[in-house]
Amino acid sequence: MILIILFRILAILVPKIVLFSLYLTAPFHLAKSPTREHQLDMKATNGFCGAIGNTPLIRLDSLSDTTGCEILGKAEFLNPGGSVKDRAALGIVEDAERRGLLKPGGTIVEGTAGNTGIGLTLVGNAKGYRTIIVIPNDQSPEKLELLRAIGAEVRPVPPAPYKEPHNYNKIAARIADEMENAFWANQFDNTANAQIHYATTGPEIWEQTDGKISAFVAAVGTGGTLAGVSRFLKDQSESVATYCADPYGAAMWSWFKYGHFHFDDGDSVAEGIGQGRVTENVESARVDDAFRVSDRQMMATLNILLKDEGLLLGPSAGVNVCGALKVALAGGPGQTIVTILCDGAQRYSSRLFNQEWLAENDLSPENLSLEELLIHLKDDQNEPSEK
Ligand code: PMP
Repeated sequence: MILIILFRILAILVPKIVLFSLYLTAPFHLAKSPTREHQLDMKATNGFCGAIGNTPLIRLDSLSDTTGCEILGKAEFLNPGGSVKDRAALGIVEDAERRGLLKPGGTIVEGTAGNTGIGLTLVGNAKGYRTIIVIPNDQSPEKLELLRAIGAEVRPVPPAPYKEPHNYNKIAARIADEMENAFWANQFDNTANAQIHYATTGPEIWEQTDGKISAFVAAVGTGGTLAGVSRFLKDQSESVATYCADPYGAAMWSWFKYGHFHFDDGDSVAEGIGQGRVTENVESARVDDAFRVSDRQMMATLNILLKDEGLLLGPSAGVNVCGALKVALAGGPGQTIVTILCDGAQRYSSRLFNQEWLAENDLSPENLSLEELLIHLKDDQNEPSEK
């Protein structure tokens, strides 16, 4: 009888003890094995800096189908700071760290039209540096607000030509010189800028086109993108044609085409591009030919990119893509043409989305279709003769 009672008690208790012990150990089994698997599977990037680059190459479908060329845009607006200049910012900062020019707790100082400042400030935040940005006060208010919001000390100054002592770059150089533990990024003449494009943007484009790229076209601000990418592509194959697309008021088209400066017959609202001298970065570019893109052509291209492709892009991307259309028309169907989609339109919303501003600048949208734009570009194909 006692044995039977004992057996019944055990029959009730043993399963409960087993279940309780499973309950106690289960969380560890459950917690440990999936975590280990996740660690093995992880494809996370290393912080903000690790997320720079490796951007998609977007086939611009309507432009490609209509021209018979593959027209491909490198989606630099998808960099974590929102523009192609994140690459230059990272390249310049890491080069300065390697060379001992930027030390822990240091300050990065730069003269910039905006995007490099945004990139430098965010890279600086991620790496523990302060940033002082000297910017011409005619740049879009969005860029100044953004720079302040992300923690830069912003010093707007009146625009002045490069040769003047109060040019924004010269002011930035002086501030860095007079400060303890400060580094002047000097994006125009610091060739770490072109070097990062040689090391990253160029190889990405080569790989993404499987080496089938026939032409590359880009506008020049510092020249870092065009120099680094053109040099890398020419090193892979001399047959890749390289072009500069220049806004009016800039002298790069005449420099690459004729070897002299001509920039007194126009102006452009496109920010971040338009250069009047051979910077150290431009110096190393390997460019076959160049042409100009007017602001009206740029605006028509931006409208088509938005309406036909769903891409809301900034002015320099409009110049670049219009440049790609000009390359398509000049060389005919069958080419694979790559260009840079530098940043998004949001950075310029108070201008690009403002009918009054557009009308003041004679840029009210004409809503040209792609076919109409191509006819207009064909008529405009006769480049201005040498002056
Ligand atoms: N587009 C935008 C919007 C830019 O800010 C810049 C850089 N100033 C460029 C294009 C030109 O790039 P890079 O300086 O490499 O010539």
